[in-house]
Amino acid sequence: MADRDGLIWLDGEMVPWREAKTHVLTHTLHYGLGCFEGVRAYNTAEGPAIFRLQEHTDRLFRSAHILNMKMPFSKDELNQAQCAAVRENNLDEAYLRPMVFLGSEGMGLRADNLQVHVMVAAWSWPSYMSPEAREQGIKVRTSSYTRHHVNITMCKAKANGNYINSMLALNEAIASGCEEALLLDNEGYVAEGSGENIFILRDGVLHTPELTSCLEGITRQTIIDFCKELGVPVRERRITRDEVYIADEAFFTGTAAEVLPIRELDGRVIGAGKRGPLTEKLQAMYFDAVKGKREANKGWLTLVNG
Ligand code: PMP
Repeated sequence: MADRDGLIWLDGEMVPWREAKTHVLTHTLHYGLGCFEGVRAYNTAEGPAIFRLQEHTDRLFRSAHILNMKMPFSKDELNQAQCAAVRENNLDEAYLRPMVFLGSEGMGLRADNLQVHVMVAAWSWPSYMSPEAREQGIKVRTSSYTRHHVNITMCKAKANGNYINSMLALNEAIASGCEEALLLDNEGYVAEGSGENIFILRDGVLHTPELTSCLEGITRQTIIDFCKELGVPVRERRITRDEVYIADEAFFTGTAAEVLPIRELDGRVIGAGKRGPLTEKLQAMYFDAVKGKREANKGWLTLVNG
């Protein structure tokens, strides 16, 4: 990733990709106190556009606020930086990674007066999973790792350190022949995937865990918005893992994963064992929206070329 052409926005200016470096004593590298976003740009008829940019930037600022990191740039500057990262790397479709991290002015937990740095990288990352996964669904296992407790790490922050838990769960799932992990909260209720929110459909009602230990997903909200339009009731409530086993349909949502059907959990086939009709419908609405094909949702797109 580090050795390639291109430009990365770092602390207010574009720097050559290979020169966007930081010192080994970077505080965030040691203790994980930092926050980031995962954002996507899609090619639309009017040119590349970032999907729900403002919502991502707002969440980044909320994360920084929770972690007590003072943002040295405005939201407007961050929005412009993200557009520039796509535009100046000549990308049609892109994954964007804004990150806020602490510098190397001091070491140790008590270090203070650390500089808050901000970077934005953008690169092309066509599909998070195989194209078949989008149609056939993925195999998931319940993780042996518990999702964060709301008072251990801050779950409303998309904090760097929170992802140790995600990686332990994902690596375990992959090592056991699955494609994703389902994490339960500290009381044993369904929380989310390693980097996705989860929905299940039962008897025409869509259910998703309430926002306690899972991230306030922007794709999750998009799906809830679509369901309002479709007249599909959505309940945010506690879900047990065996409710996923007996669901008619289940799917993950996330900026990287988009809308991803789940065909199996812990060796139990879910519904018909493939993408269900509502999942297919919501997936189609999602892809149309991100590509600017839904007039009603054009407000979610920010054209990078203005
Ligand atoms: N949960 C976790 C832990 C995540 O990392 C992500 C990805 N940001 C999500 C849920 C989905 O969030 P979004 O739809 O905003 O990408």
